[in-house]
This record gives sequence, C-alpha cells and structure tokens, in this order.
Amino acid sequence: MFEFETGTAPRNKKEDEYGNGECTNICDRAAINHQAARERRPLMPPLCVMKFGGTSVGDAACIARAAAIVKSAAAEGSVVVVVSAMSGVTNRLIDAAHRAEAGDASVITKLIGELREQHKKTLEALVRDAPKRAEVEKSLSEVLAELERLLQGTALLRELTPRALDSISGIGERLSTPLLAAAVNELGVPSVPVSATDVIVTDPHHGRAEPLMDRTRVRAEERLRPLLKKGIVPVVTGFIAATPDGVPTTLGRGGSDYSATILGAALGAHETVIWTDVDGVKTADPRIVPEARTIDEISYNEAAELAYYGAKVLHPNTLRPVTAAGVPVWIRNSFAPEKLGTKITARGNSNGGGVKALTAIRGVTMITVGGPGIVGLTDVLARSFAATAALRANVLLVSQSSSQNDICFVISSADEKQTVEALRQAFAPEIAEQTVEHVSSNSGIAIVAVVGENMHGIPGVAGRTFSALGREGINISAIAQGSSEYNISLVVDANAMQRAMLTLHKEFRLNEPASAIQQPLSPGRATADRVS
Ligand code: ADP
Ligand code: ASP
Ligand code: MG
Repeated sequence: MFEFETGTAPRNKKEDEYGNGECTNICDRAAINHQAARERRPLMPPLCVMKFGGTSVGDAACIARAAAIVKSAAAEGSVVVVVSAMSGVTNRLIDAAHRAEAGDASVITKLIGELREQHKKTLEALVRDAPKRAEVEKSLSEVLAELERLLQGTALLRELTPRALDSISGIGERLSTPLLAAAVNELGVPSVPVSATDVIVTDPHHGRAEPLMDRTRVRAEERLRPLLKKGIVPVVTGFIAATPDGVPTTLGRGGSDYSATILGAALGAHETVIWTDVDGVKTADPRIVPEARTIDEISYNEAAELAYYGAKVLHPNTLRPVTAAGVPVWIRNSFAPEKLGTKITARGNSNGGGVKALTAIRGVTMITVGGPGIVGLTDVLARSFAATAALRANVLLVSQSSSQNDICFVISSADEKQTVEALRQAFAPEIAEQTVEHVSSNSGIAIVAVVGENMHGIPGVAGRTFSALGREGINISAIAQGSSEYNISLVVDANAMQRAMLTLHKEFRLNEPASAIQQPLSPGRATADRVS
C-alpha cells in the first residue's frame, strides 16, 4: 500500500494569499466579497481550478502527491481538478489506433492488457478498501471495454476517422480521472470523477476542437457548481469534450491545460494552477538549454507567444479563456510544491521588457509556393491561407520575397500532406499554366523564436540575434517579426536548432536573474546595438 503524504503540503506565500495576502487573487476575492456584502449574499470562498499533467499522475506515488496538493487547496476554498492521462498513455492509444487502422489487430489485446494492469496496480497502491476499489475497477473495465470496441471497429474497417481517433485518444483521461478522485477521497476529502464530455461543449472540429463558452458555462453551472456547494471536489477529465450533440471531441495534444482555463473561465475561478514537472515557465526548454532559469512572472502575451511557438509547458490556447478577465494562471511543479512557480498575469513582470525567453519548434515544415507568376498573382496569399484555414492548419511563420518569386510559410509537419494537397488543388489552374511552378515542402527545419514584451523598447534585439547566430555560422532561411514585437522568429536547419538556442540564451544573458538582464549593457555591446 502506498503511503500518502497526508500532512498539509508546506504552505508558501502564494497559498497564504487567499486569506490575507497582497496579490491579484486576493484583490479579486476582496472585490467579489465586497459586492456580495453589499448585496447581502453569502461570501464566496475562493475557487481554484488546478490541472495535473501526465507526469504529475504518472504512477501511484505521483497521484498520491497530487491528491495531497488537492487536499491542502481544498482546506482553503473550493477546488475543481482537471487531470491528464497517465504519462505516455495518450501516445500509446494513438499509436494503437493507427496500427489497428493498418489492420494489425494483435495490438488491441496487448494494449488493453497493459492498460488494465497499469491502472489496476496503481489503484491497488492508492485505495485500501476492497469494495471501494472494486467500484473504481468496474468503471475502469467499462472504459477499457469501450476502447476494445473502438479499436476492433477500426481494425475491421481499416479506417480511422478523426471522430474515432478522438474517442480513442481520450480514453487515457477517462482512466486516470477515477484514480485521482479515489486518491483524494482516500485523504478524507469528498471527490467524484466527472467526464468533461458532460461539461465542456465544443465545435465538431475533431482533433482540435474549440469551446463554445456560453454552453460550457451553463453546463459547468449545472454539473460542477452543485458539487462545489456540497464541498465535493470534482475531478474532471482534461483534453476531452463533446459537441452539443454529445459526440466526443479533443482539444488537441496537450489540451488539458486548455481544459483547465476553459473551466476556470466558465466558473469564474479566482485562479488556475497548472501543476507540471518543471518549476515554472523557464527562459527556454530545459531539455534544450539546461541552464534555463525559472521566470517569476510573465505576461499573458509573452506566455501565449511562447506556447504558440512550441513551449510544451502550455497548450497554445491555454491563456485565451482567462485573458479578458485577467485571472492569474500559475505554473507550478507538483514534485516541488514548496516552490512558487511562475505567475502569468496581464502585466507580467513590470520592470521594463526586452527578451524574456526563447523557444523552438521542431516537427514543422516549410511550405513554398513558387513560380514566375507569383509576383503578379495578387490573391496568392489569400488563396494560400484560405486553404490552410479550411484545414485549421496553424501557420507559424510567413515570409514573402517577391524577387525570389515565392512565398513560404511554416506549419506543423502533421498538417504537411493535407496542406500540400489543398494548395495544389487551390492553384491547379496556375500550375497547369506554369504561373505557379511548384508547391514544395521541407521538413528538415525548426523555428527558433526570441520572445519578450516591449522588445521595441530595447534597441537592437534583432541585430544581436542575427550577429550572434552569424558568429556561430548558423544559417537563417526565413525571418518574421510581428508588429506587436513580442517575438522575432527565425527558420534554421533542424540540426542547428539546439546550437542556436544555446547561443541566443547566452547572448541575451537569460541565465542571469531578471534584474541583471535589465542593467545597462557594456559600452561595446550598446554601440553594437545602436548600429544594428
Ligand atoms: P504535463 O505533462 O505536465 O502537461 P508537458 O510535458 O506537457 O507537461 O510540459 C512540461 C514540459 O515542457 C517540461 O518538462 C519542459 O521540458 C517543456 N518545456 C518546453 N519549454 C519550456 C519552458 N519555456 N519552460 C518550462 N518548460 C518547458
Ligand atoms: N493526454 C493528452 C496528451 O497527451 C492531453 C494532455 O496531456 O494535456 O496530449
Ligand atoms: Mg502538457
């Protein structure tokens, strides 16, 4: 039997703020309570939505740690928990779905046996009481039986529709949710698993669905609020949702972060906490730049830019639902809950601006539409992007050079095949007339992005970026800088990506504390900046 850490997790400054601190969540709460007092309504306890990622529920010990965090938060106010699949499970489900599509039915029994064993073993380590365990085991068996039917159907038809893939890939969250709810119950805090298919309503865009917030708000009030009022912690499946007709959808890979802020916005939560396996948002992915430093505070815009440009720590849409209301999002380490983590707010860290972090995206493809007629083709951009929009392919960078008679843009490699096909169709008449010579793709690239608010306030960021990479002999094949100046993005060869990140991290002294970065540059550097 796994031993729970039942004591309250070390309280830190942030948690103390609920009652008497100085930070945003208190201010929000004070305002709400002031309003409540005027209207003679009962005071509102603070509501926190907290999400645990795959590694944070990776095994029984991790789930027990997550449950202890939930318990200590539940002692302070209302909590809604969002949970991902146990780490690696979603990848295994997707892989099995593709193998079943290829007619390999042997994978089905193997995967289901492994998942049953893994989740049952975890359950046994978490729940002492046999009848309670049997109840959870029954719900796990029902989900696994559904998975078996879905995979058998796929193998039989040798067809994997986006709709079926959503049903299959979302199974992991349906297996992990009852485990975490059981672990929270085990600590004496009443908790129930809830399927997000009953709460988050989305459009029918399988694999990348977007929430319908009005309907979600109504469902969240109906399904979650009554539980909160009774002091029960709902543990909601991340990643998955359903259309208004109840057809299962998913929010895209890494989508549990998005589930958390969708629910946070729908319920008017005071904050959302994303518990993960790193200390917060770092100045770069620590797997690429080991000396990356944790950022104390960052703005919605900066964090969104990082997420959009590949920082896996956040799903790209995570901040959308909470930005308008200005609700803070925290990124914290479930393996080190005593650390404060990163706070994401409207203003971010107010001291100045400049380069805050770097990010890189691999698994991207540069698409080029080229030919002698491109210059005269006034609607080439409109037609290209109508094609990508129809596929909901995210365009990460665009560059046009009329002298070279081509436009190029970068999309996720997962969208490469469909995008090339759609573009060839869109430009079929021009291809026949040879006004457009080719629609080609290159997947041997990566995007490196330099991110920070108010970069225009710090002269020469672009110059320093190019000079530093030039000194290292790193070739840049396309550049884009948005007018918002939140980022400068560069396309480099995939195999030069890490070198580019290490070089730029040093160049912008990102391993030093923020206050040091804001200090005046050395005279030599300042001159170089002005020149560039
Ligand atoms: P979870 O399973 O908790 O959702 P993810 O693996 O999706 O966690 O995201 C956390 C990972 O994101 C970290 O382990 C880290 O390698 C990666 N990452 C990429 N960029 C950053 C960054 N700028 N700051 C922190 N982590 C980052
Ligand atoms: N389990 C899903 C994935 O692996 C969602 C998530 O982890 O946020 O993509
Ligand atoms: Mg994630």
